[in-house]
Amino acid sequence: MFADLTPTTGVERRVDLGDDKTLLFMDDGRVLFRHHCLTGRAGDPERHPIINAAALRIGGGHTIVSDDPVTITPSILCECGVHGYVTDSRWTT
Ligand SMILES: [Zn+2]
Repeated sequence: MFADLTPTTGVERRVDLGDDKTLLFMDDGRVLFRHHCLTGRAGDPERHPIINAAALRIGGGHTIVSDDPVTITPSILCECGVHGYVTDSRWTT
């Protein structure tokens, strides 16, 4: 059982992107990217799997081009190495 950092409150909308990826639209305006992640940075021997819900930089890098279905630009890249695109509410790499 992985540690799950997904918030349990304040979630206004969940969008399942497929491939175990989910977007969470929070009531405070944040948009979180939920995915199976690794703690730490590449090469760190202490890394272990978690379920992360990292905030996108909406307005500071990421733009929600379309709200429903969801399209976000540019691509999403996590420190764990997960990289892909959200287009029409689907995750593609
Ligand atoms: Zn990650």
